[in-house]
This record gives sequence, C-alpha cells and structure tokens, in this order.
Amino acid sequence: MLRANYHTHTTFCDGDNAAEEMVQRALELGFEHLGFSGHMDEEIHMDWPAYTAEIARLRAAYAHDLDIICGVELDTLYDPSSCPGAEYVIGSTHYVDVDVPFSRAVDYSEEVSQRLCDECFGGDWYAMCRSYYELEAQVYDRLSCTFVGHFDLITRFNDQMRSFDEDDPRYMTPALEAMEHLVSQGVPFEINCGAHNRGRKAELYPRRSLLKALHDFGGQILINSDAHQTKVLNGSFDVAVQRAIACGFTHVNVLAHTPSDSVEMRQVPLDTL
Ligand SMILES: [Zn+2]
Ligand SMILES: [Zn+2]
Repeated sequence: MLRANYHTHTTFCDGDNAAEEMVQRALELGFEHLGFSGHMDEEIHMDWPAYTAEIARLRAAYAHDLDIICGVELDTLYDPSSCPGAEYVIGSTHYVDVDVPFSRAVDYSEEVSQRLCDECFGGDWYAMCRSYYELEAQVYDRLSCTFVGHFDLITRFNDQMRSFDEDDPRYMTPALEAMEHLVSQGVPFEINCGAHNRGRKAELYPRRSLLKALHDFGGQILINSDAHQTKVLNGSFDVAVQRAIACGFTHVNVLAHTPSDSVEMRQVPLDTL
C-alpha cells in the first residue's frame, strides 16, 4: 500500500478533523509521510500563521514516527504570496475566471454550475470547459506549483448532470492542450481520489482517458486522497494504483524531507505497493 498522502484537509479549512487526528490516523495506517494542504482560495482561506505553527508543532512531536510536511492547496486565482514558507504547493483550479455576484466555483453545487454556464457562457458547457482549461493551463505560470491538483474538477457534477460528453472533442481538445502544456513545463499531476472515495463520482481525477494521455505525454503522478476526514486518508488508493498501472505508469512520486530539511520528490515503483 502507498504509505503517504499529500492532499490533506483539517479543521483549519473545510476538513472535519483536527490536524493531530489526521496524524494519528496516518500512524495507524503505517504512513511514512503526511503532507498537509489546507485551502488558500477566495472562499476558503486559513489563518496561515496558526496553521503553520500547528503543523510545525506536530512535525516536531511526531518526528520519530512520521515525516510531516507543511504544504498548501493554492488556487490558480488566489494570491501566491498568501502562504509564505509552504514546503510544497498543490496548484488547483476551482473556479472559472468570470465576474459574478455568486460563487464561481465549478465544484460548489449543480445549481451554481448551471447558473455559471447560463449567465457567463450562454448555456454552452463546452465553452465553459474550454475557459476552465485555459485557466488550468496557467496554473504553473501563476503558482510555480509542485504538482497539479484534480485536473478535471470541471466534471465534478457531470455524472449526475450529464451536461457535456467527456469524449467529445469539444471537451477533450482543450483538456489535452492544457495537459500537454503543463507536462512540457515539467510539473507532475496528482491522481485525486477525493470524489471517488466519498462516492461522489465513478472516476478518479483525471479520468481514465486523460490519465492515459498524461502517461503518453510523459507526465508524472502522485496519488492523493484529498481527505477531509480521517476515515478516507488512504481512500481509493488501491483503485488509483491499479488505474495508474493500467495506463502505463511504472512509478508514483512521493515527497520527503531530506537530512538538510528541504523537501524533495522521489519515485517509488508502483509494483512494490
Ligand atoms: Zn481542491
Ligand atoms: Zn483539496
């Protein structure tokens, strides 16, 4: 089993459990590394000094048992200077870049998604998806992120809404263009299990055909649970590992502290998990 997770939420943002409860669950699971990644975006942003102080306290308290890393899930449209000292950055695109007096998040609700599409894109879901991926393509330029979070979050409600066909070239072409561009910049992508492990979607992010494309572009992966509760800290990891192998990947990346206290990315063979 993969004994690490780098996409972990707590009560400092919208998680249900305290950071120390997540640490205790990681120890139960035999984890070697645990990365915290609280939200910093226009709707959910943490008390950054309080968060970093608590993660530093936990890192020291559990130093002999677990490598704890202080990261952030930074949104593409948020201020990168909001999280000084973050040891890694998940670059996540939660919004479309439009000016509306309500949430512009693509993962807020079915109603908000439909309203965004109707009011900003004339009801054309493919136009909204193209706009989303044009913004997504900028995530590394804007944030210099360590890896890309939930690449195809725009599909959050599509299992229920069936608003667009995820095999249609009008959807796939802008997604693939964004992906190829980001791979050319050398930034890895996470396989995000968060919607799958909460029963919200049948697919992981990125879904199968995009994950295969990521492999074929020469991309690299991490596997993360996007846990907001202790019970899913390793939720759907088995599915993600199988999916990665099926798409041709041989290694998954992990982050770890070095003896000199920096954080480096290492590769672990998938067939050892
Ligand atoms: Zn997110
Ligand atoms: Zn998250």
